[in-house]
Amino acid sequence: MAARMLQGAEIATTVEDWLMRFEQALRSRDGDSLEALFHADSYWRDVLALTWHIGTVNGASTIGRELNARADRAQPRNFKIDEDRTPPRRVTRVGTEAIEAIFRFETAEGRGSGVLRLTPDAANGGTLKAWTLLTALEEIKGHEERLGRSRMQGKVYSRDFRGPNWLDVRNAAAAYAGHDPTVLVVGGGHAGLSAAARLGQLEIDTLVVDRGQRIGDNWRKRYHALVLHNQVHVNHLPYMRFPPSWPAYIPKDKLAAWFEAYVEAMEINYWPATEFEGGTYDEKAQRWTVALRRADGTSRELHPRHVVLATGVSGIANIPDIPTLRNFTGTILHSSQYGDGDAWKGKKALVIGTGNSGHDIAQDLHASGANVTLVQRSSTLIVNVEPSAQLPYALYDEGPPLEDCDLITMSMPLPLAKKSHIALTEQARELDKKLLDGLTRVGFRLDFGDDGTGWQFKYLTRGGGYYFNVGCSDLIVKGEIGLVQFSDIEGFVPEGARMRGGKTLAADLIVLATGYKGQEYLISKLFGADVAARVGPIWGFGKEQELRNMFTRTPQPGLWFIAGSFAQCRIYSKHLGLQIKACELGLIPTAQTDGSFRQPKARAANSIPQSAA
Ligand SMILES: Cc1cc2nc3c(=O)[nH]c(=O)nc-3n(C[C@H](O)[C@H](O)[C@H](O)COP(=O)(O)OP(=O)(O)OC[C@H]3O[C@@H](n4cnc5c(N)ncnc54)[C@H](O)[C@@H]3O)c2cc1C
Repeated sequence: MAARMLQGAEIATTVEDWLMRFEQALRSRDGDSLEALFHADSYWRDVLALTWHIGTVNGASTIGRELNARADRAQPRNFKIDEDRTPPRRVTRVGTEAIEAIFRFETAEGRGSGVLRLTPDAANGGTLKAWTLLTALEEIKGHEERLGRSRMQGKVYSRDFRGPNWLDVRNAAAAYAGHDPTVLVVGGGHAGLSAAARLGQLEIDTLVVDRGQRIGDNWRKRYHALVLHNQVHVNHLPYMRFPPSWPAYIPKDKLAAWFEAYVEAMEINYWPATEFEGGTYDEKAQRWTVALRRADGTSRELHPRHVVLATGVSGIANIPDIPTLRNFTGTILHSSQYGDGDAWKGKKALVIGTGNSGHDIAQDLHASGANVTLVQRSSTLIVNVEPSAQLPYALYDEGPPLEDCDLITMSMPLPLAKKSHIALTEQARELDKKLLDGLTRVGFRLDFGDDGTGWQFKYLTRGGGYYFNVGCSDLIVKGEIGLVQFSDIEGFVPEGARMRGGKTLAADLIVLATGYKGQEYLISKLFGADVAARVGPIWGFGKEQELRNMFTRTPQPGLWFIAGSFAQCRIYSKHLGLQIKACELGLIPTAQTDGSFRQPKARAANSIPQSAA
């Protein structure tokens, strides 16, 4: 029966029927029957549940083969519609009408959730087949998170007049006087906090260190007018929702204060004003020796078994090699050194770089009364912060609760996510037409991402190259902020920039909003070139159609990465935590080895590897 003909209970029955046939085929290792349940062009994404990897395979025969190969170890079973979650329903995803169902299941080692999308197969009388399938691990059996009814009942939480009370226990735990944390998280932004909260719930002893003087300084120290770019309901941290009374766009200092409250409430061990200076890994002992420098100048050596880098992009400033810049006698700042515009009132400033930082700093200087010119080095994607930049989050307004939206988000394989973002970018282009036409008129060079995939893929592949317009683009169109192309600058002279036409653009200040070096540089600096070479590229997509080295075991034992948006970190911090727990339980090794995650040459480039760990 075609998907659009089905109604209410019929939809559920169809989904139950598909799940039952899927389980039967899996149990009997019947490759042909498995294959017949999927469209020729379909996707299976597994997030740890059956493979202990994060990976996607494409095509019915590959999916059938890979599922069969996993079934012995994973023993997947009890696939059922999850009655506690959004019921199966008809949706349109990437322009395709489908039945979308959330289900649950179990394996030998854990319990999982999944999302199934069924569409009719025209070549087969409209039989409903799987277009996409997600299987994701939720918990490891015997090590479930202690939430709600299974919350902690321990002695330290009860009224023991002689024993240490809760605060004594907390202080002792966070001091690490006579013991080491199992996990050291470097960086206490939302990425580090999400990871630490998850690990805490899994009863893994975790310490977060951050060089900032105060929790939340990663936001507090950003420019004065900052409010978040996405709406509040997309940005929750794990376990604790922002209050429903909060504004749609959270101001930076409010967020910084929330981080402090979060650390308290989630009982996260957190050392502020602590610089992580690097470490070495002892393969035999399977632990790190790391050096920490604390605010009082003292240093501390620790021996965690795992290091999670949650250092964001602001590791090492990228200073472009512009030889004539040293002729300039005014002030030169990298964007990371820029505080606010107060000192530049009535002065002239050049801001080099047209990403978010360049635009925000140009607008801040302009608001402070400086005369600002933005210097464009390469084409840039511009999108109005509202409504255009919010389009990818439409799912979170559809009605399902946050956890279901997160699962549905995870279930979209990369090639389909790209298609979806091409459509959203087209939509944004239409919505922002007036602004974009105005920018083109004043000579601003626009782009829309590779193959028109928009800002999200620019973020996921290069971490920048776009600006969410919160007013700076309008000022450029009106001519209130000047614009020149970097290619029109002949070179820098003591008083500013000498243009190719012979004119000099005078400046007191030059801001280099030229971004940050990739994580690879940071790894090399903190752990040495060998570790950096072993780990390879971080972020961006590899052949497995997943973000490289993110949220997953890396080729370096005990080294992990977490980064990305609030939503990404909320979602994948769970899987990072589950993998570290599984390593500690001895279910999987602590490193990704070439033979497991990387595809052997003879195998399809987009398939999930055979071995489970
Ligand atoms: C204006 C603006 C608005 C944004 N709005 C949104 C939004 O609405 N939603 C969204 O999802 N994202 C948003 N982002 C993007 C992104 O979420 C943020 O940039 C966020 O700060 C990234 O978080 P993080 O935890 O990965 O890294 P950071 O916030 O950069 O935190 C990293 C931390 O690591 C610490 N650190 C680094 N190296 C060391 C070391 N060696 N030792 C000790 N500590 C170290 C730093 O001090 C820092 O506190 C926005 C960004 C900007 C600039």
